[in-house]
Amino acid sequence: MTDRQTQIKLTNTKTRHKDVFVPIDPDNVRMYVCGPTVYDRAHIGNARPVIVFDVLYRLLRHVYGADHVTYVRNFTDVDDKINAKAAETGRSIREITDETMQWYLDDMRAVGALDPDKMPRATEYIGAMITMIEGLVESGHAYVAEGHVLFAVESYKDYGKLSGRSIDDMIAGARVEVAPYKRNPMDFVLWKPSSEGQPGWDSPWGYGRPGWHIECSAMSYELLGETFDIHGGGNDLMFPHHENEIAQSCCAHDGAGFANYWLHNEMLQVEGKKMSKSLGNFFTVRDLLDGHDGQAPVPGEVIRFVFLSTHYRKPMDWTAEKAKEAENTLRYWMDLTWELEPTAEESFTPETKLVDALSADLNTHLALTYLRSLHNQPQKLLDNARFMGFLSDEARQKRREIESAIPHGSGRGGSEVLAKLAVELDALRNAAKLSKDFAPVDALKTALLEAGVEVRMSKTGVELEAGPKFDASKLEGLL
Ligand code: AMP
Ligand code: ZN
Repeated sequence: MTDRQTQIKLTNTKTRHKDVFVPIDPDNVRMYVCGPTVYDRAHIGNARPVIVFDVLYRLLRHVYGADHVTYVRNFTDVDDKINAKAAETGRSIREITDETMQWYLDDMRAVGALDPDKMPRATEYIGAMITMIEGLVESGHAYVAEGHVLFAVESYKDYGKLSGRSIDDMIAGARVEVAPYKRNPMDFVLWKPSSEGQPGWDSPWGYGRPGWHIECSAMSYELLGETFDIHGGGNDLMFPHHENEIAQSCCAHDGAGFANYWLHNEMLQVEGKKMSKSLGNFFTVRDLLDGHDGQAPVPGEVIRFVFLSTHYRKPMDWTAEKAKEAENTLRYWMDLTWELEPTAEESFTPETKLVDALSADLNTHLALTYLRSLHNQPQKLLDNARFMGFLSDEARQKRREIESAIPHGSGRGGSEVLAKLAVELDALRNAAKLSKDFAPVDALKTALLEAGVEVRMSKTGVELEAGPKFDASKLEGLL
């Protein structure tokens, strides 16, 4: 069932406004998102655009119909980092990129992301890139110098418009590669020569390989056309990558506007700091899924929940505490809906309030608040949570496996009850903030402490853990 009356609003980097989304063709809504360079496991920051644009994809599919949306996300499988990895490990480039692509798909599916409709790999579009570069050279937007082909930024009057910079600002602020063969220091590489041991293809400019930016221009053109609806990615890509994509595409297809709506997600940090290997707070999606450095595994839907608690345009902080809280909520939802069969996707329509929240520039935080409010309507909770990518068949199956591995009567109830009580305590606290009557919160807290439960309440939520004197029997009657 489609829902084309729904008005979706999206913050468009191009206009710097929250614009009403009007597709070029409602029967074929087209979205392109820059994908990963495949030489290593995706870190958790890389999962942010995937989860954000997955939510948008789900919303578009609901509004326009699943068969009327085309979502393309590329794999960059030609890059100097991949070459370095091959040299370091002695493995072939193909082996490395195939393996990494599969890891990526497994990890992103684990966080509840649907596969895009098309996932082109750059090396399969070299011909299209060469054709595009040839056109740019012919029309004077690019020039050949010392085996390289460079895009002449001065030939495109709107260069810098997306990110709001002038060419002079860009030269001053960016670490541009100054090369003697560049006419302007901002000119960027479309094609570069490869030495014998490096990956390369024959071209009118000799044996070589493409620059990074041209990939997305060529693949989006081949798969979505000259002009399409939405282009997404992290805001670290806005300059120079997206700026360069626009310049190439608009100049190659004279007069075409490329993407109408540009969406950028903000960056992810870890425990308040930029994620970096030197700070020891760098981890991959797989590290979390499998458990790392003595930490318990974090289910994929917990990662998804934490991410969606923060609006995509705000910096988000990954913390262990948020993960714990999300895990409690999801466990509670899983319990509430345990005996229910999900409604078949074809005959299900998400609740208007949920669709409205997402249509308001992807207000996923509000969408989660709405899901929480459905705890008295478990069937609705199950179906709407699944629409958001939670309580999936895989997550439910995994839970069944865990349940069946635990012998009955071994105290398994304790953790479930604690999860429910954590949600209950949080709800009481939220209510108390409005009523200014904290007595019910204090009463429950006291009862929990008497049962040997460690209670941690913070700004972001409530965490309950069985302490050394924990006595599950004292929890009876609290729910
Ligand atoms: P890369 O493979 O580095 O080109 O990144 C793939 C995608 O992940 C791009 O859309 C980036 O914007 C995004 N990304 C990289 N680091 C982060 C981060 N810390 N937080 C959010 N998104 C990120
Ligand atoms: Zn791109």
